[in-house]
Amino acid sequence: MLGKFEDLIEKASKMGLKAYFLKAGDIPIENRIALKCAYGCRGYGKRLSCPPHIMSIDEFRKVIEEYSSALLLVDEYDTTGIKDVLEAWPGLRKDSFHKMFELEQEAFREGFTFAHLLRPGSCNECEVCNLEKCVKPEMRRFAPEAVGINVQKAMEGAGLVLEFCKPEKTACLGILLLE
Ligand code: SF4
Repeated sequence: MLGKFEDLIEKASKMGLKAYFLKAGDIPIENRIALKCAYGCRGYGKRLSCPPHIMSIDEFRKVIEEYSSALLLVDEYDTTGIKDVLEAWPGLRKDSFHKMFELEQEAFREGFTFAHLLRPGSCNECEVCNLEKCVKPEMRRFAPEAVGINVQKAMEGAGLVLEFCKPEKTACLGILLLE
């Protein structure tokens, strides 16, 4: 069943990423996820990869209709010895993003012309985002939750459980849209 995706899954594995096949149509998109961004996230609006600077949930619903497949990407870190996971989070998600971004480029080279990564967390390629014009637009990606994807349900669809409040284990999650 995995066919043409097998090569990418293997490449992900070599990068230390776990990759799970998803049908794009099964990825759950919900309006209520917007509450978590606008009324609960301290990073709201602070990066050009975040709402309200990106496409809306409704716009994304139309975009994802044009995809058939995706890979859910999981990068797990053992954070047992890390005192403050929140402090470590920017570095962890940046490292994971770079691996996932490389996989997106690889997918393009393999013929998935519309390969597009939904990255782990907000973009932190610059120390401070200038909020006017992205200085690295070729790397600007938004997170799945920023366009209404219920990541917890998406993981359940792949037979996984998203665990919260576990300082000893931190997972960076991305979704690679493929067509
Ligand atoms: S690359 Fe820099 S300017 Fe562009 S969204 Fe990311 S942090 Fe902002």
